[in-house]
Formats: sequence, C-alpha cells, structure tokens
Amino acid sequence: MTPMKWFYSFLHKHTRSMIFGLVLVTVISVLAIVKPIVSGAIVDDVIIAGQYEQLPRLIVFLLLITILRGLLRYLSQLIFETCSQDVLYTMRDTVYRKLLQEDFNFYNKKRTGDLLSRQTGDMDAIRHFIAFVIYQVYENVFIFLFALVMVFTVSVKLALCMCLVLPLSFLVTLSQTKNGRPCFWKIREQFSSLNTFVQENISGNRVVKAFSKEDYEIGKFNRENDGYRDAELAAAEIWTKYVPLFEFLSNLLTLILMLVGSIMVIQGEMTLGSYVTVNGYLWMLMNPLRQIGWRINDIQRFTTSVEKIYATYSEEPNVKYPVNAIPCKRLRGDVEFRGVSYSADDEDIIHNVSFHVKSGQTVGILGSTGSGKSTIMNLLCRFYDVTDGEVLVDGRNVKDLDLYNLRQNIGMAMQDVFLFSDTIEGNIAYSRPDCPFEEVEKAAVMADADGFIRQMPEGYDTIVGERGVGLSGGQKQRISLARALLKNPSILILDDTTSAVDMETESYIQDQLRTLDRDCTIFVVAYRISSIKDSDLILVLNDGHIVEQGTHEELLKNNSYYATVFRHQYGEYEKYIRNC
Ligand code: ATP
Ligand code: MG
Repeated sequence: MTPMKWFYSFLHKHTRSMIFGLVLVTVISVLAIVKPIVSGAIVDDVIIAGQYEQLPRLIVFLLLITILRGLLRYLSQLIFETCSQDVLYTMRDTVYRKLLQEDFNFYNKKRTGDLLSRQTGDMDAIRHFIAFVIYQVYENVFIFLFALVMVFTVSVKLALCMCLVLPLSFLVTLSQTKNGRPCFWKIREQFSSLNTFVQENISGNRVVKAFSKEDYEIGKFNRENDGYRDAELAAAEIWTKYVPLFEFLSNLLTLILMLVGSIMVIQGEMTLGSYVTVNGYLWMLMNPLRQIGWRINDIQRFTTSVEKIYATYSEEPNVKYPVNAIPCKRLRGDVEFRGVSYSADDEDIIHNVSFHVKSGQTVGILGSTGSGKSTIMNLLCRFYDVTDGEVLVDGRNVKDLDLYNLRQNIGMAMQDVFLFSDTIEGNIAYSRPDCPFEEVEKAAVMADADGFIRQMPEGYDTIVGERGVGLSGGQKQRISLARALLKNPSILILDDTTSAVDMETESYIQDQLRTLDRDCTIFVVAYRISSIKDSDLILVLNDGHIVEQGTHEELLKNNSYYATVFRHQYGEYEKYIRNC
C-alpha cells in the first residue's frame, strides 16, 4: 500500500460528505459569476441604455446571491471541518493502536519526540489538508476554468490570448513542487528532532540540574531551534521565490485584457459592457493563479506528513501475534527454556540457555551486570522473540500461545520502574481497575507499601507525578511490586525489585511471597544472595551463558562464581559450610 492509498482508506467513508461539500463549493463558485454579469448589465442596460428602473432589481438580486453564498460557505466549511476531524480521530486512533502493538525493538530504536511529532504536528497538516486545501484547490481550479469558459463565450480571441499564461503557470508549478520537496522533509525531521530534545530535556531535567548543565543544554537547544528555524526559512525561501512569479503571471492577465480588450472595443469587436464583464471575471482568473504557490506549499506539507506517519505505522513488530493462537486464560506456570539463544544487532546476548521450572517453584537469577538476566525475562514475556531454541510455558511454545493471554498471566515488576501520573491506588490497580479496594490494600501490604502509603497526605489517593516523582526508589519498587501482585499471576517476575529496599523489608516481602498461591512460579532477579538463596533453582549467568545452576547448597559446594559472591556478601562462608 502506498502512503496516499493508506490516507485515502480513512477519507473513503467520508467520500459522500466530501462530494456534497464540493458540490456546495461548485454552487458558490457558479454564483460568483453573477457579480460580473450584473456589473455588465448595469453598464450596458442601466448606464448606457438608460433603463434606470432595472437598478434596484439588480442590486436586490446581487444581495440575495451574496447571502446565499454566505450560507452555503458556512455549510461547506462545516462539512469539511467535520470530515477532517473524523478522519484525524480515526487515523490517530489507528496509529496509536499500532504503536501499542509494536515491540520493545521498535521502542528501543524510535525517539519519543519522533512518535509525538507523528501524532501531533503531522496529523495537523493532514487536518489542514482535508478541512481547507482540498476545497480551496478545487474551488480555484473550478473558478479559473469556469471564468475562462465565460471569457470564451464573450470573446474567443481574448480568451485564447489569456490562455497564453497557462503553460507558463504549469512550468512554474512543476518547478516549485520539485524544488520544495526536500525542504519539507527537512522541516519534519528538524521538528521531530526539536520535539525529541525538548521531551528528553524535560524528563531528564533533574539530571541537568544535578550536573549544573543548564548552559550546555541551552546551547544544545539553541542548535535544535536554529535547525528548525533554518529548515522553515529554507522552505520559505523557495516558495517566496515562486509566489511573486505566480503574482506576475496573474497580473499578466490584466495586461492582456487591457491591451487586447481595449483594442477590440476600439475596433468594435466587443462592447464596453462585455469588456466590463470580462474585467469582472479577471479576479476569478487572477486569484487562483496567485494562490498556486501557497497551495503547493500546503500540499507538500501534507504529503510529507502522510509519508512520515505511514512510515512509522507500516513498521511491523518482530514479535507477531500467532495466526492460530492457543487461548490460555489461566496458565499453570511451568516454564522451560530449551537451548534458547537471542541476538540483536549482530550481537549475541543469550547463548544456548536451558532450564526447567515447575509450576509454583521459585527461581533466583544472579549474574553480573549486562549478563542477560532481564533479557531472559523479556524472552519469557515475548517482549523479544528467541533467535534459536524454544521458550515453553505449560509445555507450549510461547510463540503459539495467545500473546495477550500469556502476558495477562505474567506479573512483572520491571527493573526500570515506571509509574503513571495517577493515584497510588490507580497505579497498583492498573491491571484490574475495577477490583475492590481491599485487594489493592492486600497487594500493598504484601509489598510492604501499605505503611508508607498511609502516611502520605492523601493515602492511596495521592497522585504520583510522572515517573513516580515524589517517591523514593524503594517506595516506587514496592508500588511496582504491589501492581504485579494484584494481577494474581501464574508467573511473577521480580527484576531487581528489592534492590532499593533494606534487608528487613526484603525479608518481610520474601515471607509474604511464600504465602502466594502454590501455583505461582516466581522469578527473582537480584544481586543479593539473600534475595535468592531460598529459591528452588538458582541460575547464575555470565555473558549470556548459564554458568551454574542448582540450589543454594549445591552452588556453594560448586565453589565457583556463586560461592565467591556469597563469600563477598556474607563473609562467613566457612562457618556456613561447617553448619551445613
Ligand atoms: P543488569 O543487571 O544491569 O540489569 P542484565 O543482566 O539484566 O543487566 P540485560 O539487560 O539482559 O542485562 O542485557 C544484556 C546485554 O544485552 C546488555 O549488554 C545489553 O546492552 C544487551 N541488550 C539487551 N537487549 C538488547 C537489544 N534489544 N538490542 C541490543 N542489545 C540488547
Ligand atoms: Mg537487568
């Protein structure tokens, strides 16, 4: 599908309304012809032939036509504006739904500012096109051709002379279209870049302040701002060159009329009234010519925006919804990785990972930073798809399971906690907004969050700012844990969830987790041995490989990486082994 066909798929259902709007515009344009005819009649019949009684009738007629044109204009504007808003609404919704379907890879590579620009500035260029440019172009072309035909009916010779400007106008139009196109791409690029910069800077303003980098950021902002201004100016430089050319061509029509028309009147080939009539048509010929430059500008902004939006929209996620998805309302939580490897951007991240966890067991994952712990969890949730091997849940390949069902069965407290600008209750109850408050409270108690929430001025109704500003790191982690617990998942993933809480709180949370349903499989990714030592299975990762796996005791006996970490953290290895 081409970007324009895609755009038309939204406009398609409004075809009738748009055609009706254009019919109204046609009537408005035809009625515009009355003015020059009446002017000609006033000169020929009233002034020259002396039929003065005709004057009031002609004036009232003109007034009625003017009122009718005003009403029709109002109606047509309403139609185009409504269609444009409807198209935009549907398009925004469609693009947004597609954005929600995109996978992690898409978001890893896309800049937020770009995506925001697609949904705001680019959408507005489309609205402007439907609400204004379509009917303007149509009206101008129609009025121009209509007036030309009318001039032909008055004098073929004069009309042919006026037609001389058409090939010139066509050439200038082509030239502007060709030269302007790259500028509009540049404008959209710069606009996205500026948006990205502002968005990033506002989100990261605490870092800017902490490093006293305000001046540095202002310098960077100025460069972005300059870039956008320069791109707009470069486009303006092009179209401002063409606007006077079209102005010149439209004035050429006046010169032709004055020269050829006057000679024809003098030689008696045309009456003075006909000359006045043609003069009345003149603005109908000049105005469309004058506007060509502006409309090309609008059309190019529109086409660039459609192409940009479509380019984002048409990116297909790598993680695909299975064709014959197996529904799985409630999973048992039996998880198996069979020879799983994952690579991205030609870099091997996970190599041949295999393990099996039975429903209700707890798995601890330990490993140095960047060893692939979060990636393994992401593969389980199908945020990425394995490049080799299989991830099985309840004995079925996750690629065959209904993707939404799979994720509904998984409760994940992510390493990078994100809280919405909502109340604490709203954040915890994100997966089940209609659940009774008691369940929210229960989840918060399990995550040891209830205490500090109640101490807040508005308790569970306290609004947490974007990204949970106003809460400590450990508090955010506990809200995120409560959010995952409220899902009552079959598989619970805690990715570094207790790293920012003290040992006592962590121990309390671990006790609470033991009270969970027996069929909830728990993955705990952590650096602290204390977080994972009681797990049924511990996986030790290094550079994407499982280098050790077993229980705490087994791994200590291995006397390898796990045992070394344990010694560093506990310092009592020997004593522990003796007690064992
Ligand atoms: P940490 O303990 O710091 O959270 P981790 O063990 O969770 O680390 P991962 O987040 O799984 O590590 O990342 C493992 C490696 O894979 C890192 O080097 C990371 O940069 C890389 N990586 C992860 N996902 C992708 C991706 N989609 N594209 C490219 N590289 C990726
Ligand atoms: Mg991680």
